[in-house]
Amino acid sequence: MRYSQYFIPTVKETPSDAEVISHQLMLRGGMIRKLAAGVYNYLPLGLRSIRKVENIVREEMNRAGAIELLMPTVQPAELWQESGRWEQYGKELLRFRDRKDTEFCLGPTHEEVITDLVRREVKSYRQLPINLYQIQGKFRDEIRPRFGLMRGREFIMKDAYSFDVDEKAADISYDKMYQAYRRIFERCGLKFRAVEADTGSIGGSWSHEFMVLAESGEDAIVSCTACDYAANVEKAEARQSAVSEHADPRDLEKVATPDKKSIEEVASFLAVHESSLVKTLVLLADNEPVVALLRGDHELNEIKLKNILGCDTLEMAGEEVVVKVTGAPTGFAGPVGLKAKIIADLAVQGMKNFVTGANAKDLHLKNVNLGRDFNVTTFADIRNVVLGDPCPRCESGTLEMWRGIEVGHVFKLGTKYSKAMKATYLDADGKEQIIFMGCYGIGIGRTVAACIEQNHDENGIIFPLPIAPFHCIISALNMKEDVVREASEAIYGQLAAAGIEVLLDDRDERPGFKFKDADLIGIPLRIVVGSKNLADGKVELKCRRSGEVELLSMADAVEKVKAAVNTALK
Ligand code: ATP
Ligand code: MG
Repeated sequence: MRYSQYFIPTVKETPSDAEVISHQLMLRGGMIRKLAAGVYNYLPLGLRSIRKVENIVREEMNRAGAIELLMPTVQPAELWQESGRWEQYGKELLRFRDRKDTEFCLGPTHEEVITDLVRREVKSYRQLPINLYQIQGKFRDEIRPRFGLMRGREFIMKDAYSFDVDEKAADISYDKMYQAYRRIFERCGLKFRAVEADTGSIGGSWSHEFMVLAESGEDAIVSCTACDYAANVEKAEARQSAVSEHADPRDLEKVATPDKKSIEEVASFLAVHESSLVKTLVLLADNEPVVALLRGDHELNEIKLKNILGCDTLEMAGEEVVVKVTGAPTGFAGPVGLKAKIIADLAVQGMKNFVTGANAKDLHLKNVNLGRDFNVTTFADIRNVVLGDPCPRCESGTLEMWRGIEVGHVFKLGTKYSKAMKATYLDADGKEQIIFMGCYGIGIGRTVAACIEQNHDENGIIFPLPIAPFHCIISALNMKEDVVREASEAIYGQLAAAGIEVLLDDRDERPGFKFKDADLIGIPLRIVVGSKNLADGKVELKCRRSGEVELLSMADAVEKVKAAVNTALK
């Protein structure tokens, strides 16, 4: 490809509406352009990287035995009503009517469509297992589309769906996908972790997220220092604090705490550590008040609480409800004397003589004790784990925290969709059985963006070779000089003939300008062709990542590029 005839509209200035580096660099590097909020044009350079990721995904899916098909973007409401998600999915599902007034939606995911297809076509155990996948555009009307391709409204996803005779067989399909995902992200050159995750609105019983480690990641993840436990904080289990305090219960005491509402304020006012307080939160679960108790320095994990309560909605109660439930304004709630469902975190179980609100304005209670002063409905793990917590799986490790970008997600769905939509097969005895399903997604555009978050410097992108839009760029310093033009064309021809994806910067621009663009768009290898070095029969080969420069003969430079590409793609 010749740069002068290609379409790479780079820009010098950092776009003001791009918060994260990958979004900035993809705009500056001429890879994407915004059409509407969360909706992007993929320009040629961006598309090349997208296609690279798609191809790696396709190869590994095929290798794992999955079969590619393509489903429509437009989906009939009817199927979503059957699965029950028409009501459940909320505003992310973009709904519309056709001219006959029939309701449709733009597919945010394809469990309904694929389950419908399979229930019509698969009748016998002999047709199972089967794993079908597509690489296709999804639409989710995200509340806050941002960070470019990272959280778009229209985006490209690879989604696969496995169908098995029973749970054991479904586990094998899940494991195959888990292994394929590891290979995919390794081949993309990413530093990632597979973490245990909550199953969210897609439902099902078990899931792992594949997280690219990056400071800008929206997810908090933990991993054990000693074993291979890793989980999203949403899901990460807190081990019950084994030690309970042995102090004798002291007499309950009311203390005046004028205007001291927050945990920090009360702790500092009473000169105690925040961990000596119990925090009392009033929430609404499906519009019914519930109370959650946590150690003062711990944070509530709403997902854990929601799973324990089995409710559809969970939100913090407003002032009015707090007053109704506790008899006091927000900031003075406590469990003593409350007539509500009380869920207490496991860490509260071992506490003695703690401080809580007194359910009266400007008052707290000291020396509160479980059992003596109040009882709870249930103890459960409802807090976020924190740095240094003991690992829930092994005896020796503690939890470390990271930020991550979720690029892939594998779910065991069980029979959630097959039951609702009656996807069954006949077993060897001719008996009707429900199919077991799994589903497996990868955000293609998000993977490219996450890769840039992990691979860049102050000059631009540093693409890992397997997903770089081109392997090599030839910066011809002055194409008007015959020697330079001829040498550049010769190298270009030889590399192209060897199957190397090469971009010849033949533009009539200053060398500095060309180098800036080459660095910005992150091409891994650069050959600089100038008359000065050519006089000694040499060209310069520069590695974008290490910055290392070598002076080589043209033939050696070509060989080195070929070898580097072959090694990286092996
Ligand atoms: P998130 O929690 O980030 O919203 P999700 O759990 O909704 O993600 P899934 O439904 O599991 O995502 O979708 C599978 C994959 O699709 C995700 O792992 C992610 O890589 C990608 N993806 C999801 N939403 C978006 C989006 N709005 N823009 C780009 N990629 C997305
Ligand atoms: Mg989402």
